[in-house]
Amino acid sequence: MYRATDRPMRDLIMGIVDFREHLLSQYATRFRDLSYAQSPDALFITCADSRVVPDLLASTEPGELFTMRNVGNLIPPASAEGVSIGDVSEASAIEYAVLVLEVANIVVCGHSECGAMKAVLARAPKPEAPNLEKWLHHATAAAFRLEHEGPLDPSLTAHNQLSQLNVLVQLEHLMTYPIVRSRVNSGALHLSAWWFDIATGAMQAYDRERRTFEIIDRAVAEKLVARLGPVADPTPAPRA
Ligand SMILES: [Zn+2]
Repeated sequence: MYRATDRPMRDLIMGIVDFREHLLSQYATRFRDLSYAQSPDALFITCADSRVVPDLLASTEPGELFTMRNVGNLIPPASAEGVSIGDVSEASAIEYAVLVLEVANIVVCGHSECGAMKAVLARAPKPEAPNLEKWLHHATAAAFRLEHEGPLDPSLTAHNQLSQLNVLVQLEHLMTYPIVRSRVNSGALHLSAWWFDIATGAMQAYDRERRTFEIIDRAVAEKLVARLGPVADPTPAPRA
C-alpha cells in the first residue's frame, strides 16, 4: 500500500525500469563508447526548474551537453584572481568545462515563469531559507537594470522581463572569469544568451544588435550558425 507521498518516487523508480526495458538497447553502443571519455559540444547553464529540459529542447544525446543547473541560472562573479565570490561549485564546473573538456561554447539559458525571478521581485525574504536569500543576491544587478533601463520586451510580465535581463547579466558575470574572458576575446570560446518560453515551447536567442530575444526558428538558426564561422569538422560522427 503506497502513501500519496510515495507515488512520485514510485513513478521515478518505475521510470528507471521503463528506460531499462524499452530504451536502453537504443543507447547501449553510445553509453559504451562514452564510458571512458566525454567531449560535449557546450557548457549549458540553466535553471533547476523541472520544465526546462535541455536535452529534449536541443535534441541532444548523452555526451553532448555538459549541464550546470541552479536556481535562477545565476553565475556569481569572480574576483580579480578568478575565484567565485558566491559558489565554487559552479566555478569548478566552468573551469572543468573550459580547461579540461575544452568546450568552445557556453550557453546561459533562462526561462519564463521562473520562481527565482518572482522571488527577486517580491523582495519578501524567507527567514527559514537563508541560503536561497543569499543566492538570489546574484540577480539583484538584473533587477537594478530592469528598474533603471527598462525591459527588452515591455509586453512581457515583470518577472519575465527580469528573467531576460538576468540572462544577459549572468553572461557578464561569466566574463569576470579570466579563463572565460581570455578565450572569448581570442575567439576560442563563444557565449550565447538563450531564453525558453514554457507556454509555447519556443527557445529564443538574444540578438545583440536588435536588443531582443528572437525565436530560434530555421531562419534565425541559420543566421546564428553563420556567425559562428566555418565548421571545423564537416563530417561529424553520426548521432545515436
Ligand atoms: Zn527558474
